[in-house]
Amino acid sequence: MTGEPAELADAARALAEHLRFHQALGIRALPLQGEPLGGPGAALGRLEAASDGCTRCKLSQGRNTIVFGSGSPDARLMVIGEGPGEEEDRQGKPFVGRAGQLLTKMLESVGLTREEVYICNIVKCRPPGNRNPEPEEIAACAPFLAGQLGAIQPGVICALGTFAAQHLLRTREPISRLRGQMHRLGAAIVIPTFHPAFLLRNPGPSYRRQAYDDLKLIRREYDRVRGRASADA
Ligand code: URA
Repeated sequence: MTGEPAELADAARALAEHLRFHQALGIRALPLQGEPLGGPGAALGRLEAASDGCTRCKLSQGRNTIVFGSGSPDARLMVIGEGPGEEEDRQGKPFVGRAGQLLTKMLESVGLTREEVYICNIVKCRPPGNRNPEPEEIAACAPFLAGQLGAIQPGVICALGTFAAQHLLRTREPISRLRGQMHRLGAAIVIPTFHPAFLLRNPGPSYRRQAYDDLKLIRREYDRVRGRASADA
């Protein structure tokens, strides 16, 4: 952290969300240490258990499963989408439908596997008809995302699509401006790219080429934060 005012404000907001969430769980004291208690896997497990049966917003009424997240708790790269679709809601895993299959290929195009990254969404329950999540639904789910970010402490975050990018970066800029750039979020770098569902709706080489450029940048930063010389992706 460089101590920039915007960065400090982000950190304070994330901390406040985190503390409110723990307070709601009845926790009155938190150990002040870098690593979450028991490590990232244990912290994610506690969070997922806390989400069980969640009724914090109205999305709970229409969902079949809570799609919490999947992948490695030790991931240095987090991939964040918008919200589960029909197939995700059925299987309880993020990005397992058509868009998910394309996401898997996008990751593989730069030598990444789903198992080594951590994939989740801004909201954990399917919005009806795949509409955009509403502000109160996002706010209700924010402690879970903040908790996931706090547990994993990724070095790089790939924000998929307008919605995730705008939410994480607290901006109204369009994805066309945000993509391909590195944005700071606390200690992490956020690199937005097109949502795979958008790429499926807009086939053709132009958007795919841009997405590939973004993925190469993500790969480069991923290698950097892991302390390795950039592999030729
Ligand atoms: N779209 C998303 O944003 N997330 C998913 O999990 C699936 C599709």
